[in-house]
Amino acid sequence: MNEQRSLFGEPAKTHPPGGHYRGKTDRRFQDYHYTWPADYWYIDLDGVEVCQRCRQPLILYEVSRDVEKPTSILANIGERAALHAVLIIVPNGGVEFDDSTPVQWAWIVEDGVAHRGMRTWNRGTLGDWRAEVDSVRAEHKETHR
Ligand SMILES: [Zn+2]
Repeated sequence: MNEQRSLFGEPAKTHPPGGHYRGKTDRRFQDYHYTWPADYWYIDLDGVEVCQRCRQPLILYEVSRDVEKPTSILANIGERAALHAVLIIVPNGGVEFDDSTPVQWAWIVEDGVAHRGMRTWNRGTLGDWRAEVDSVRAEHKETHR
């Protein structure tokens, strides 16, 4: 079997023949949904940053190691929800995640407006990404007044 590792060194969560799932996450519903003969997909989002104070979503996250990761659906969701959406590229497994970890990110949607076509990559560290998120949070906090 093709043994893949997640970012955190655990066996990657794959869909082996037979549909059993080896990871910690229970994906039985997703696996079941994939058996439906329909012209629709069942898509996972990797994360949504939500303000704890007002319960409003701020940023949709797709996290990948693949700079070619398709994001057209993320763009559609971000536009319809009038949110920010980002594709963040993280290093391969075995790397500590701290503020010095190198990453790159591309805004797919900003303030509900999708950037289609060429991606503009930002390169830096997780600390730089944190600063970027802080600016989105600061903008959001203005809506509380
Ligand atoms: Zn809020």
